Amino acid sequence: MAASVSLAVGSLVWVEDPDTAWIDGEVVEIKGEDIKVLCTSGKTVAVKASNVYHIDTEAPPCGVDDMTRLSYLHEPGVLQNLRSRYDMNEIYTYTGSILIAVNPFMRLPHLYDIHMMAQYKGAAFGELSPHPFAVADAAYRQMIHEGISQSILVSGESGAGKTESTKLLMRYLAYMGGRAATEGRTVEQQVLESNPVLEAFGNAKTVRNNNSSRFGKFVEIQFDQKGRISGAAVRTYLLERSRVCQVSDPERNYHCFYMLCAAPPEEVQKYKLGNPRTFHYLNQSNCYELDGVDDSKEYIDTRRAMEIVGISNDEQDAIFRVVAAILHLGNIEFAKGKEMDSSLPKDEKSHFHLTTASELLMCDVKALEDSLCKRVIVTRDETITKWLDPESAVLSRDALAKTLYSRLFDWIVDKINNSIGQDPNSKVLIGVLDIYGFESFKTNSFEQFCINLTNEKLQQHFNQHVFKMEQEEYTKEEIDWSYIEFVDNQDILDLIEKKPGGIIALLDEACMFPRSTNETFAQKLYQTFNNHKRFSKPKLARSDFTIHHYAGDVTYQTELFLDKNKDYVVAEHQGLLNASTCAFVASLFPPSPEESSNKSKFSSIGSRFKQQLVSLLETLSSTEPHYIRCVKPNNLLKPAIFESKNVLQQLRCGGVMEAIRISCAGYPTRKPFDEFVDRFGILAPEVLDGRNDEVTACKKLMEKVRLDGYQIGKTKVFLRAGQMAELDARRTEV
Ligand code: ATP
Ligand code: MG
Repeated sequence: MAASVSLAVGSLVWVEDPDTAWIDGEVVEIKGEDIKVLCTSGKTVAVKASNVYHIDTEAPPCGVDDMTRLSYLHEPGVLQNLRSRYDMNEIYTYTGSILIAVNPFMRLPHLYDIHMMAQYKGAAFGELSPHPFAVADAAYRQMIHEGISQSILVSGESGAGKTESTKLLMRYLAYMGGRAATEGRTVEQQVLESNPVLEAFGNAKTVRNNNSSRFGKFVEIQFDQKGRISGAAVRTYLLERSRVCQVSDPERNYHCFYMLCAAPPEEVQKYKLGNPRTFHYLNQSNCYELDGVDDSKEYIDTRRAMEIVGISNDEQDAIFRVVAAILHLGNIEFAKGKEMDSSLPKDEKSHFHLTTASELLMCDVKALEDSLCKRVIVTRDETITKWLDPESAVLSRDALAKTLYSRLFDWIVDKINNSIGQDPNSKVLIGVLDIYGFESFKTNSFEQFCINLTNEKLQQHFNQHVFKMEQEEYTKEEIDWSYIEFVDNQDILDLIEKKPGGIIALLDEACMFPRSTNETFAQKLYQTFNNHKRFSKPKLARSDFTIHHYAGDVTYQTELFLDKNKDYVVAEHQGLLNASTCAFVASLFPPSPEESSNKSKFSSIGSRFKQQLVSLLETLSSTEPHYIRCVKPNNLLKPAIFESKNVLQQLRCGGVMEAIRISCAGYPTRKPFDEFVDRFGILAPEVLDGRNDEVTACKKLMEKVRLDGYQIGKTKVFLRAGQMAELDARRTEV
């Protein structure tokens, strides 16, 4: 990509800068490879010629709406383009067919109203400004015309705008595939209303986003032969369970808890609730209210949405009873009992919450207490009851709360699916994926490990697709593309998921072996992957490991890997709730088929998740994909602030830079013949005397300038990286 050949004193270039990623300046001195650049910051820096990039002095100041139209397709050019558009509230930009969406952090209602939808309906892709509606429209039309299922993959880090974009896509698809006012609830209405329901139970305020989705989701919208929505299915991934019992300032627990505390007084009384500050699962953090959100209104809205998606009034009551029971469970504290290492509810208050929880769950209060304070151990010849000490009782209580909540969430998802219904005759669908982006924090645990595995899988899918699209463009233009290299991340995927021998398999083994600890697990990893080039052991680490992901290195702390991977429900909890006289609660805990057999009860979250990913990728592979990359311009969640370095990192993680790299490996610059002649005719004025058509003129021009490796396609000239700069430099010499 370097353009050193064409550098001269006075050339305008981009130089890498530690603060702003790239800064512009002017070349003031050249000594072979060593050059000096006077930056606009006033600083003069010495750099290697191969590390600077040309500034396209002809780029329009307001940017271009498709980055592949940039004459120079390099990092600083891409950033500059996004920034100048963002400054003008143009938050959407294409890179070929990928839509990049930069979060505006302010409402732009006119951008999404019904008139906009009408405009995008049927407009050719690229004809109007970049927009999620354009992507949805392209997907819809391709589905109708070619009869092929489509998918739209939305990615980006927390707070980047995935869920908002997903909702826009769904709204547009409902608009296109909706039925003219029919009676009652329409499928598309139900599909749309599933969003607020899932958000009430699966979203929470975090440091990164006030409405952060704590689960991944894939919504499959099915269409009939007339192109109308005829069914839908929601698949969810990895709900964050720990949040139910553990929140830290300034985050919140799931929205539904606060909504219920703000419900109308008779409901609050019925569930014996009150101020959220009085509940342990909520008061570990000092954040209760959200700016601009009225929880009592949210409660009403959520119940209305639940009604629309087909959750009956009784079911809604049962759901909120379980939510309330979880809050009461959290308030049960334990003290030491009479016997050694035993425990019992600490005081009157704890007894009150225990009783209330049992009433709400409609189970026996003594049985509930026992299930929290005791364990039954079944050996070959006897059954022993063991007391739990107060600390273990707390863990048992929290495990019960988490299991209850995650079963409740799954129930809601199943219910939505059953009530919207699947169309068995549907031949085509459009899937919309809203799933967490690559994560790399100070400490990274099992969740990050699973999330990053997802992103590796999606990245592979993305690369393969981008690569294929490039090839198709070259084939269409009938030019040779045989030497484009393709970097694959299969080695990382093998490291993680290979069976046997991959990290997940080793983790499962460790979980089944009672004496394993995180340290023995880490040792096993160190031994096994000693020479793996994607794996390393950080210096001085005793149980951490580093994976060299496509998007960067991430060091994982193994401390909770084993616990978090184990997916089992304590038998006492299972038995207790299965016996609930509330049919709803009992149905959350159906007797498991394995219980009767002697088979191991171990089931692993990691393996199950891996399986879910396999099935997701299978679905995706049978569709024509479309991509939306959401970008968070700053971490303050404020409008009008564009942090270049931050954005660049996201473009790298989202594979946008990789897509550009793949494109640069071939012919990054494509100019239609007429544009090419307009720009470079000056280099060979004699070919423009009217006797040559545009193609011939381009051919003759290129012969004259004697560049190697370019190709003439059917409608465009294809230039190798750097050749545009070379031609521009010659042009200024004329
Ligand atoms: P997470 O991974 O945490 O779920 P996310 O990528 O789904 O994050 P969103 O919840 O979609 O992020 O967006 C975060 C916030 O950014 C929204 O609540 C909203 O305030 C703002 N936002 C996102 N997209 C837009 C948009 N197109 N217009 C206006 N505001 C937006
Ligand atoms: Mg989200």
